[in-house]
Amino acid sequence: MTAKSRKFPLPLSSLDSKSSSRTGKSGHPVQNIATPQTATQNARHQQSRSASVPVTRCLLPRVPDHATPFRSEIMAQHKPADAATAYEAPRRAMVARLVRQGIADPVVLAAMGTVPRHLFIESGLVGQAYIDASLPIGYEQTISQPYIVARMIEVMRNGKSLKNVLEIGTGCGYQAAVLAQLCENVYSIERIKLLHELAKKNLRSLRIANLRLHYGDGMRGLPEVAPFDGIILAAAGMQIPDALLQQLAIGGRLIAPVGEKQQVLQLIERTGNADWTKTVLEGCYFVPLRPGII
Ligand code: SAH
Repeated sequence: MTAKSRKFPLPLSSLDSKSSSRTGKSGHPVQNIATPQTATQNARHQQSRSASVPVTRCLLPRVPDHATPFRSEIMAQHKPADAATAYEAPRRAMVARLVRQGIADPVVLAAMGTVPRHLFIESGLVGQAYIDASLPIGYEQTISQPYIVARMIEVMRNGKSLKNVLEIGTGCGYQAAVLAQLCENVYSIERIKLLHELAKKNLRSLRIANLRLHYGDGMRGLPEVAPFDGIILAAAGMQIPDALLQQLAIGGRLIAPVGEKQQVLQLIERTGNADWTKTVLEGCYFVPLRPGII
């Protein structure tokens, strides 16, 4: 049902869309709504048909060569000497849950199994770091729930390695760290100065060389670095900013929540110089995308 659009610039509403009810491994349609509650329901729903998936297989996937140094770098920072070992079991459980929720890309599962999510959570909530929920990070913003982080990256990656990826909405920096495990270069923009600083602080000990944080209005993108073969928005606008569509490489994929109270995840694929296609994936709930900086 996907159809090509007309000339750029154009409102996304003018693009033909296809509704994808996702199909799980077993061929059953999978309708996920990315809220903690529904994620749990999805997990239960998925559990019955994926219970036989050997989790160890998913925890030890093959990862592309370029991802290996970043993974080992992170692991080296968190060797048994500190309390990090206490979080290894919850992190493994999180990955096993992602498998039950339908995340199948081994590269994404490896990245989720590598990044120490507890380092991005404020101390009072750190015990909940690996549950399937978004959590407050201050300034009325949240760290996204693990399921939606993995799902969006899986869709954006589409089984291919990514070179340049742009994230809008760094927040505490968690998703940027996950992206850096599987992309050659990651650029992430945050509009709230204090969150930009928080992300820098959270990421410092991980020393991720291929991640660059920017303070600015992500709705403008990063024209000096574009084109990007992947763009991921961690905040929901009423439409996807034209600047971001323009900065997507031909053949690239952009994934974004769109809407206000009723939001949906949209996948935009750029198929030509002036051609984009839109696919509506599933319901979701994100903080709003706002213009300007504070
Ligand atoms: N990526 C985060 C989620 C952050 S929440 C994670 O790892 O879980 C979404 C973030 O988007 C918020 O920090 C919010 O301030 C930011 N945001 C909203 N509008 C923005 C804009 N125009 N440019 C950059 N960041 C924006």
